[in-house]
Amino acid sequence: MTILEVRDITSGYGEVQILWGSSMKLEEGKLTCLVGGNGAGKTTTLRTVMGLLKPWSGSVWFQGQDVSRMPAYTKADLGLVLVPEGRQLFTDMSVYENLEMGASNKRARGNLKQNLDKAYQMFPRLLERKTQKAGTLSGGEQQMLAVARGIMADPIVLMIDELSLGLAPVLVIQLFESLRALRDMGLTILLVEQNVQMALAISDYGYVLAEGKSGIEGPARQLIKDKQVREAYLGL
Ligand code: ATP
Repeated sequence: MTILEVRDITSGYGEVQILWGSSMKLEEGKLTCLVGGNGAGKTTTLRTVMGLLKPWSGSVWFQGQDVSRMPAYTKADLGLVLVPEGRQLFTDMSVYENLEMGASNKRARGNLKQNLDKAYQMFPRLLERKTQKAGTLSGGEQQMLAVARGIMADPIVLMIDELSLGLAPVLVIQLFESLRALRDMGLTILLVEQNVQMALAISDYGYVLAEGKSGIEGPARQLIKDKQVREAYLGL
């Protein structure tokens, strides 16, 4: 079943149009990735889906409801959660306090204990370091915390922007494994990645965005083998 559908959205900043028709469908319980090169408009797509930017045209449907014009906090109350690029943690606050802040929407407040258990179970390192200031964590641990804070928001759909950015490949693999575990627990995930190869390697389905427009899509296993994708993004 489709849980989130993005229909041909256009958007941009001021007068500058960045998206020229970005579309995708997320199937419930699947891990979907949106990949593409630097500046293709992936972050802009996420921001528009989340409601941080207004779509100029096109629409966004969440659980059968048109949410195109809803502000981000209302979408968060419905279960649409974004882990933004660059983590945006509260660096002077402890790991635990950061997690607590993640549970600020209406849905999440009632499930705080349950989601905290889930977050610590997924990332035991965070439990060990729960009183440590977020700013003193390693890059990989900070990224774990950013994802864990997303879990605290009690998502139905979790959207993650550039999970791999700046991290060593071994850490990226570990984090991607956590996403698969979350998927196996029933969560629907949208992963936005510049690291096309690794994103396709762990996803169920993939969409390629180029110059603000949707192009090739398909089961991730097929996309990895696609000649155009391999030439354009995998350097093969
Ligand atoms: P990256 O992986 O580099 O973040 P991306 O595919 O996520 O790439 P976007 O961040 O969506 O791409 O950026 C698309 C274009 O929009 C870029 O040309 C960028 O310079 C521009 N852009 C992004 N944010 C703004 C902004 N706040 N104001 C003006 N232009 C912006």
